[in-house]
Amino acid sequence: MSALLELSGVTAGYGAVQALYGVGLTVGEGEAVALMGRNGMGKTTTVRTIARMLPATGGRVAFAGTDLARLPSYRAARLGIGLVPEGRRTFGPLTVSENLAVAARPGPWDVARVTRLFPRLGERMGQTARTLSGGEQQMLAIARALMTNPRLLILDEATEGLAPSVRQEIWAAIRALKGEGLAILLIDKSVREIAGVADRAVILERGATAWAGVIGALSADVADRYLGV
Ligand code: ATP
Repeated sequence: MSALLELSGVTAGYGAVQALYGVGLTVGEGEAVALMGRNGMGKTTTVRTIARMLPATGGRVAFAGTDLARLPSYRAARLGIGLVPEGRRTFGPLTVSENLAVAARPGPWDVARVTRLFPRLGERMGQTARTLSGGEQQMLAIARALMTNPRLLILDEATEGLAPSVRQEIWAAIRALKGEGLAILLIDKSVREIAGVADRAVILERGATAWAGVIGALSADVADRYLGV
């Protein structure tokens, strides 16, 4: 069976600046994969390429067996990739309820289910997104992605800059989603938290896949070489 998401030899960049030099990774159905690497190694650029916010200049990005480069973007958007981008983007002037409504697509995830996952959102349905705390905005960003009923959820630094207690709430939600069988690609700096949810890790070094393996094989040596500062 082919993987849900499959990248091979992906290159991409920003104008004349090349950022990706050959990224390969796969995410299978129900699998959680961590995309790791030091700052500036190409994690966010890889995510942008998967979400088609940035075109791949070479290699292949396939989702559910379909080469994304062959699809017009409006079709690619409906394939089922739910992205929670870096910096938790929500619509500030809209209420929580409106933020959820505009993201909704048919499927098992609806307002009742996302508010069961994040009860705090349920208590703030009439509040505008810009008045939420950072943690609540992150919950809303994840909830919005779930409302699209994705087959793959991509989380780019979902716990960045949040208080420890809120981080714990978000990690608990991520573990619950994984437990329900949702395929997840996640970027995060906390190796300890990643180890508690990811099946496998892919490490980028200067825009290319430098290491890939099951999470248990990520030794202190590997972490030191590719993730240490
Ligand atoms: P971080 O953990 O700091 O977010 P990252 O691994 O996500 O890092 P990217 O943001 O993908 O790294 O950056 C990869 C490379 O592309 C870096 O050299 C970066 O300077 C460059 N880059 C990123 N965004 C742009 C942009 N909009 N224009 C030009 N270069 C960019």
